[in-house]
Amino acid sequence: MVDTQLRARGIRDPRVLGAMERIPRHEFVPPEERFRAYDDSPLAIGLGQTISQPYIVGYMSELLEVTSDHKVLEVGTGSGYQTAILATLARGVFTIDIHVSLIELARARLEAMGVRNVHFDLRDGHEGWPEFAPFDRIIVTAGAAFIPQPLVDQLAKSGRMTIPVGVGGNEQVIKLIVKQDAFRVDIHDTIPVRFVPLVQNPEES
Ligand code: SAH
Repeated sequence: MVDTQLRARGIRDPRVLGAMERIPRHEFVPPEERFRAYDDSPLAIGLGQTISQPYIVGYMSELLEVTSDHKVLEVGTGSGYQTAILATLARGVFTIDIHVSLIELARARLEAMGVRNVHFDLRDGHEGWPEFAPFDRIIVTAGAAFIPQPLVDQLAKSGRMTIPVGVGGNEQVIKLIVKQDAFRVDIHDTIPVRFVPLVQNPEES
């Protein structure tokens, strides 16, 4: 997977490649999908959600330029696979989701692997996690209709955020947001993707 799907397509960051070599992706998919765990595609994880394609995990992780002193906010815990990669790269990860069953499964998987630097909570990603802000890095792994301002506010100075933002239909483009300071935020469009939607007003759905 790392050679043919990541290195061959230009993922270069040795820390990202090393983390993806070490974390056992098959532990993050349902038993009936295990034989496909290293396929070049997203996979169903229940509740209509998916574990992202390995290349997209590698791509977003590399874009973020995470270092070992960073505090990272992840919106969309899902299977916990991306969480585990980030936990390997960063000092600590704060991860949130709107499905308690996915959070509990991800928490159990990471505990079983001995990963201790992750904090989980049931929250709407549009609001972030203000109690622990600012974050050096923020990653959103569901397709947003717009860039939520609370996330930009909770990004530290010189912070980087990646978020898939809708461009129509089920398609998004991964945006890289670099916060120069409180008054200047640069936004770059990168690659087109298809993520499951970032649910708006989840308490009503
Ligand atoms: N990174 C995960 C991707 C999970 S799919 C993985 O690779 O496994 C997207 C996740 O976003 C789902 O778990 C879904 O429950 C969550 N999600 C959707 N809307 C959300 C919202 N408003 N706030 C937080 N999480 C949300």
